[in-house]
Amino acid sequence: MMDIRKDIRELMDLCIGCGRCTEACPSNAHGGCDPMDVMLGGDSWEGCIGCGSCTDVCGVTDPKKVMMYTTAVRTPVPIPGCFRETGYNLPAGEYPYGEPEYRGSGLSLMPGCIVNAGYRYLENAAVSALGHLGMPVSRYESGCCVYPVPYRVMTEGERDGLKKDMLKGYGRIVTLCGGCSHELTESGGDAEHIVWLLHRNLDRLPDGGLEGLKVAIQPGCRMRPIIRMYREICERLGAEVMDIEPGCCGKGTKVRDALMSERQKSMDGADAVIVGCPACFMWYDTWEGGIPVMHIAEAVAVAAGDRRSLGCHRIVPEIP
Ligand code: SF4
Ligand code: SF4
Repeated sequence: MMDIRKDIRELMDLCIGCGRCTEACPSNAHGGCDPMDVMLGGDSWEGCIGCGSCTDVCGVTDPKKVMMYTTAVRTPVPIPGCFRETGYNLPAGEYPYGEPEYRGSGLSLMPGCIVNAGYRYLENAAVSALGHLGMPVSRYESGCCVYPVPYRVMTEGERDGLKKDMLKGYGRIVTLCGGCSHELTESGGDAEHIVWLLHRNLDRLPDGGLEGLKVAIQPGCRMRPIIRMYREICERLGAEVMDIEPGCCGKGTKVRDALMSERQKSMDGADAVIVGCPACFMWYDTWEGGIPVMHIAEAVAVAAGDRRSLGCHRIVPEIP
């Protein structure tokens, strides 16, 4: 029997067993986890993607938090050593074509663990996109937002304390990942995903540049409610936006193949899929024979004429 921490037990005790979370769960729909079962003491935790759809529909407690905690204690993935040494959850990678031009300012760009490790060209592209808007930026160097599963064995107070330390010395932060901005905001940080900033500056974005490109939009779990912003940015850039129902990439869980196959089928005919989440980016870019992917910040850089990042993709987008 799993030893359940007090704050998690309290969240479980609030559950009334209505089943709405399980109905909303994309993993459950493909034979994955069952959040209501876990909330009622069961052990159907495997396959949780951490998308938060369960908590969005719940209204009385927080099944996502319970699922992430359960995954953390059931899956033997310790907090990585490099977190203690570098602040990042994953070892740092290289910039494939040189460091971005950080000119310094009150605005800091947070790359996040996945970009810092393996997709540094997305950092270049984001700096380039912000440069197009006339926004010089510095780099947020504090590392991981402590969202990933291994950190869920910590109490909320411990995670909050770590995040508050990471925020010291930083003002406005712009992120490439919705999870990072959410985590930092929860701990009092002035952080937002770059899509908000791009959308506020819609009339300063390149007016065209992606004409002839048909795109499908997958904003990622946390940003589905603001898909309209993605659409308006892509339309401003001149792309044709397909009408599709966004969904989950499946991350690296046991339901990944089922969910990713579903996504690829739903986007049939797209020249590129536009995402807001570096984890989604990674899973799309490594899907054999899949539709090429671009991060929304990268789409702006490309439309502005900076195509250097495209050659770094495993599946290279072809821009007309
Ligand atoms: S966690 Fe919430 S949505 Fe799920 S069964 Fe319990 S009360 Fe219902
Ligand atoms: S976080 Fe997502 S995958 Fe996990 S239980 Fe909730 S709805 Fe299902």
